[in-house]
Amino acid sequence: MIQLYIPLNFLGVIYREIKQSLTDIEKMFLLLDREREVADAPGAAELQVSGASVVFDNVRFAYEPSRPILHGISFEIPAGKKVAVVGPSGSGKSTLARLLYRFYDIDSGSIRIDGQDLRSVTQHSLRRAIGIVPQDTVLFNDTVAYNIAYGRPGASQTEVEAAARAAHIHHFIAGTPKGYETMVGERGLKLSGGEKQRVAIARTLLKNPPILIFDEATSALDSTNERAIQAELEAVGQDKTVLVIAHRLSTVVDAHEILVLEHGHIIERGHHDDLLARNGRYADMWRLQQSGD
Ligand code: ADP
Ligand code: MG
Repeated sequence: MIQLYIPLNFLGVIYREIKQSLTDIEKMFLLLDREREVADAPGAAELQVSGASVVFDNVRFAYEPSRPILHGISFEIPAGKKVAVVGPSGSGKSTLARLLYRFYDIDSGSIRIDGQDLRSVTQHSLRRAIGIVPQDTVLFNDTVAYNIAYGRPGASQTEVEAAARAAHIHHFIAGTPKGYETMVGERGLKLSGGEKQRVAIARTLLKNPPILIFDEATSALDSTNERAIQAELEAVGQDKTVLVIAHRLSTVVDAHEILVLEHGHIIERGHHDDLLARNGRYADMWRLQQSGD
């Protein structure tokens, strides 16, 4: 009895360990779920980035065939410029970000970076060229340092810290007993939405890729933090190609082009001033936010 009990109990411990790591693996797959839906073309080439111009050419896409989400979207982000997408929730903004990162393949049209169709290059080389700060950040069950350095494996502690400072998360991390070695996630320190977002921003700053996607990247932050980090994002995006999905219109005023998306159609587009003069949907949104502030 006793002899049986001990190994079983021991097994129980191992089982829990395995189960825990399986949960992590499941989460990884959940994170990378999209990756299973796309595959490298046979003989796919490495993406060659020169200026990193981005083109969406008549892009149509549906998650489920019966429900089209994007109905022929075309726009260009010239190398080193910023294009902003605004519009109501559910209009397809995050979908644009996911398609540029190639979490899914499109149904028709094409997406190109410096003239190369995303489907013709390796996913690895594509994702190396793009940094994304998503709407909802999922962190790994690992240390804060790991989660930040994930943007650039092999980064030094000094580099990790510099990125954390720029993302205004350094003081918070330094204030925890184990600092950068603090475990985060389910088995460790639970971070708020805003803290997770700042870790994701630090990761992206450290990765320093030629193309940046900010999907409402500061939406979980209070307005003081948001303004401060917005300034950092502006600075890091200076010479980069940026797709910004904005929840605050004040951050898109200087965009090369603003796209107003509704039900998967671009219903208005242009510079901030043109759109205000047009006195349409964008102007309405602008007035609403101005009065909100
Ligand atoms: P936005 O970012 O503008 O709020 P999204 O691009 O996230 O909008 O979503 C656009 C539409 O696609 C929504 O109707 C949403 O419900 C739907 N959608 C988003 N993700 C999925 C998915 N994985 N499967 C099916 N439908 C989805
Ligand atoms: Mg979204």
